[in-house]
Amino acid sequence: MKYLFLALSICVFAPVVSAHRLVRLYDVPHGSLMNMIEDGYDIASVDMRSGYVDILLPERDIDQVALLSYDYEVLPREWGELLPENTDNAGYYYSPEENWAFWCSLAENYTDLADTPVTIGQSYENRDIYMIKMTSSIPGDKPPIYFSSLIHAREPGGNSVLIDFAMWLTSNYDGGDTRAAYILDNTTVYFVPIGNPDGYEYNMPNGGYHRKNMNFTLGDGIDLNRNWGYMWGYDNYGSSPYPNDPTYRGDSAFSEPETQVQRDFIEEIEPIAAMNYHSSGQWLIYPYGYEENTYTPDHTTFVEWSAVMTAENGYFAGTCPECLYVVNGDQNDWMYGGNEEQGIMVFTPEVGTSWWGGQNDTTVIEANCADCRPMNIFICMTVPEFVGISGESEIGIEPLLALNSVYPNPVLSTASFRITSSGSSNVNVSIYDTSGRIVHSFGTGEFAGGTSSLTWAIPGEVPAGVYIARISDVAGNCDSRRFTVLR
Ligand SMILES: [Zn+2]
Repeated sequence: MKYLFLALSICVFAPVVSAHRLVRLYDVPHGSLMNMIEDGYDIASVDMRSGYVDILLPERDIDQVALLSYDYEVLPREWGELLPENTDNAGYYYSPEENWAFWCSLAENYTDLADTPVTIGQSYENRDIYMIKMTSSIPGDKPPIYFSSLIHAREPGGNSVLIDFAMWLTSNYDGGDTRAAYILDNTTVYFVPIGNPDGYEYNMPNGGYHRKNMNFTLGDGIDLNRNWGYMWGYDNYGSSPYPNDPTYRGDSAFSEPETQVQRDFIEEIEPIAAMNYHSSGQWLIYPYGYEENTYTPDHTTFVEWSAVMTAENGYFAGTCPECLYVVNGDQNDWMYGGNEEQGIMVFTPEVGTSWWGGQNDTTVIEANCADCRPMNIFICMTVPEFVGISGESEIGIEPLLALNSVYPNPVLSTASFRITSSGSSNVNVSIYDTSGRIVHSFGTGEFAGGTSSLTWAIPGEVPAGVYIARISDVAGNCDSRRFTVLR
């Protein structure tokens, strides 16, 4: 098998002169996937649940796929290629010009919520890399949350998700969905919509296959998602030292201006959470990626959060080795582990099932955005609670009355409140919304005293949002804790 891979890989390395196609290989063992990456195959999408791998091949080499002895299928042209009729405008995706126009118009139409784009640095070919800051005018200590897309130039699906989420935030701020007001009143959301502007611009008239940046000094560009400075070049799995490989990591960490620009901006704003969007494969990936069975100190939180985030859309969550394969030098690992202070709760969603599918069918893009919007809302509503900027209670060494935990938080259907009372069992427990209205009160006698739990099966008519559980006793002791209901 190895020889066949090698024989084909020679063709893969040939200069790009012909059109390319995505080819889906069925029943690929997970072990063979690593061989394919080592051999320089350009992996577009992996779905080990269904047992297929999509690879990009020059059209002239497709006949040789039969040598691999897998069942295979040549995928529709528009899944992997930006079709000639769309090369000026990216079809239903947003071209570089359309991105700029969108973000500028957002700032013009919602002056109180969205700032005009600000340049944070330049690419290899001196194009501007810009960011958009969104928050309401309500003052406060509002934790930064980071959204990025298109660090891989042929993955516009994530860019559409960012645009969709920005539109959702602004259009729902006044009276639509109260979660939008909660997010913009309590956090600062930053968008970096085009992390690789040279590659994206290049893709417009050139078929849309290009993944890396446009620094062709040694080969055909550097994979900007292997160029970050945590565990860069740890080994050669999922990160290549060879300049023409799709995952070429560059000759040193942060060798490329594009990764330097994002690094410096991230260090400046110090986000507490991030969503770095890619496509495709319907994954939700969290750190670490550089080694199998290597987990962050926040692993339990990553697991719990991602379970909620993927409950509706069915994305498969895990570390990169669990979902796909090991990688080193990626943005996630650096944002979590790059220095001891960071620990950013960072995720990479892999949107949808192809790079360009949807360029002529807006329902594909809308469905992808609908899949991802709840994940974005979740992150933005959860991290303020996570860092405890408000709503958290100081619990003394020997509290007379304490609401120890709300579990799970966020909650989908049934919440459990763990309460400790060193006095009587005569404790009042009520749930309030953020306007101070009582949503639910537990009856006298439901709390047994000592340390025990009360559960609340949340009725369907209670909308998604932020709520406060408050306990008090006749002696005037009280405690409260904030939690989030998701629907
Ligand atoms: Zn990617």
